[in-house]
Amino acid sequence: MTGEHFIAERIKPIGSSGIRRVFDLGATMENPINLSIGQPDFPVPQSVKDAMIQAIQDDHNGYTVTRGIPALRERISQQLNDEFDWAPDVFVTSGLSGGLLLALMACINPGDEVIFGDPYFVSYIHLVTLVGGVPKPVSLYDDFQLYPERIESAITDKTKMIIICAPGNPTGIVFRDDDVRAVAELACKHDLLVVSDEIYNMLSYDGPPPSAVRHAAERTLLLRGFSKSYAMTGLRLGYAAGPAALISEMAKLQQYTFVCAPQPVQYGGLAALDTDMSAEIEIYRKKRDLVCRELEGAFEFCRPSGGFYVFVKAPSRFANTSEFVERAIDHNVLIIPGEVFSQRDTHFRISYAAPDDQIREGCRVLRGLAS
Ligand code: PLP
Repeated sequence: MTGEHFIAERIKPIGSSGIRRVFDLGATMENPINLSIGQPDFPVPQSVKDAMIQAIQDDHNGYTVTRGIPALRERISQQLNDEFDWAPDVFVTSGLSGGLLLALMACINPGDEVIFGDPYFVSYIHLVTLVGGVPKPVSLYDDFQLYPERIESAITDKTKMIIICAPGNPTGIVFRDDDVRAVAELACKHDLLVVSDEIYNMLSYDGPPPSAVRHAAERTLLLRGFSKSYAMTGLRLGYAAGPAALISEMAKLQQYTFVCAPQPVQYGGLAALDTDMSAEIEIYRKKRDLVCRELEGAFEFCRPSGGFYVFVKAPSRFANTSEFVERAIDHNVLIIPGEVFSQRDTHFRISYAAPDDQIREGCRVLRGLAS
C-alpha cells in the first residue's frame, strides 16, 4: 500500500521544491561546487550560540507564551520604533516561513487573489495555493524592478494582498523606494494588505532597502527573520509586526500549530539583535562584487544589491535553462533553474553564499559552457 488515497486534494497541485531536488542531487555528488544554497556560509555568531547554550543550561526549554518571550518582543519593538518610529503589535514566529503561513491562513479566503513579483520566492505560490487563494505573479522582467503600473493592472475585486520582497530571492534586486511607495499607495486605494518579506533586510550593499512600512504602516504586515542575517536557518526564528487584529488571529493559529518558536532560540535571537554583523555583511558585499566580475562579459544579468543571489540569463544556444543547468551539474556545478522561481524558464540562480574559490571556479565552468 502506498498510502496515496490518504492524501488530501489540497496537496495535489503542490509540487516538491525544485531547490530540494538540486540539493538531493548534490548529496549524491562528490565535492560539487555548490552555488545553489540559500543560506549564509558564515557560522552563527558566538554571542548567539552562548545565549542559546546558557538558556538550555538554565532550563529555558519549555513552551513560551504564544507570542514569544517578553524580552525579545520588547527588543524587537524597540528596534522597529528606532527604525520606523512605528509601534505595531509584534509576535515571534517559527522562522519567516511560519509567519507567512499564519498570515495567509488568517487573511485569505478561497478565491482571494495574492499578487507578488515574478520571479518569486518559491513558497509564495505554493502557500497561497494551499490556503485556497489564487497566486497572481506579476512580471518583474527584464530588470527585476517593481513596476506599479503592472501591479495595478493585476488588481481585481478579488485581490486581497500584495507581497513585496526586497532584496529579493532569486534576484538579489532591491526595489526603488518610489516604486514601493507607489505600490503602497495602490494598496491604500484598493484596500489591500501589504506583506513585506524583509528576510534579507540586513544584507543590503548599496544603501538601506525600501520598506512598505515607511509608506503604509497601518496596512503593512512586516515579516522578518534571523535565518539569513545571523546564519540561523536551522534554528527557525522570525517575527511578524502589523495590524493588531491580524497579529491576534495569527497568534491564535500559532497556538494550534507551531505553539511557539523554540525557547532557547528566542534567547539566541535576543542576543542576535545586539550583535554587530557589519563584518559579515562587508564580506558578502565583496562576494557580490566578485561574482559580478566573474560573470561580466560572458552572461547577461542585473547587478544585485542585496541578499546572496544573482539571477542570470541562460545562453540562448541552449533549448531551455533546465538544459543549461543539467550541463552545469554534469560539470559538477550546482545552480538552480529559473523555472523553480518563475513562470519563465530563461534564467538560472547562482547563490554566492560560498567560499570565494568556489565562486571563482563555478563561474569559470559556467563561462566555459556559455562560450
Ligand atoms: N522569504 C524569502 C524571500 C526567502 O528567500 C526565504 C528563505 O529562503 C524565506 C522567506 C524563509 O525564511 P525562514 O528561514 O525565516 O523561514
